[in-house]
Amino acid sequence: MSDHIVKIIPRDPLYLPPEQTLDVAKAYLEAHINSDGINISVNGSPVFVDCGSNLSEIFCPKCGKKLDYSWWQSAMSKAFEGEFMFLGTVAPCCGAAVSLNELCYHFPCGFARTRIEIYNPGQAVEDDILAPVQKILGTELRVIHAHL
Ligand SMILES: [Zn+2]
Repeated sequence: MSDHIVKIIPRDPLYLPPEQTLDVAKAYLEAHINSDGINISVNGSPVFVDCGSNLSEIFCPKCGKKLDYSWWQSAMSKAFEGEFMFLGTVAPCCGAAVSLNELCYHFPCGFARTRIEIYNPGQAVEDDILAPVQKILGTELRVIHAHL
């Protein structure tokens, strides 16, 4: 059996809630979800929060064309040089200005300075659980499902 990790991140890659607020969110999740553990990570600059082996395709958010994986890799390494503080790039398909954070990843991925990871949750992490956590953290969230 592979591990299922649900990662919750702010939609804004630079957003970092105060530590106490993150602890409140963690306590809320621990009280409402059975899991093998919940972990919080914090970084000085955004990191790419991936969906593990779930990542199969990436599409342009403007024109919907499938993006070449090698194009994405070189855009990623360029952004990495700037520690992912600037995620803007130009889509090769239609020339649109896009953010690496807003590409249509299948399955979803994203960039964040903080993430809450829930290991093997015993239930689906849906809006009824997510909405209160969004309220606690004061920001819109994105949910990433990773399989390892
Ligand atoms: Zn495009």
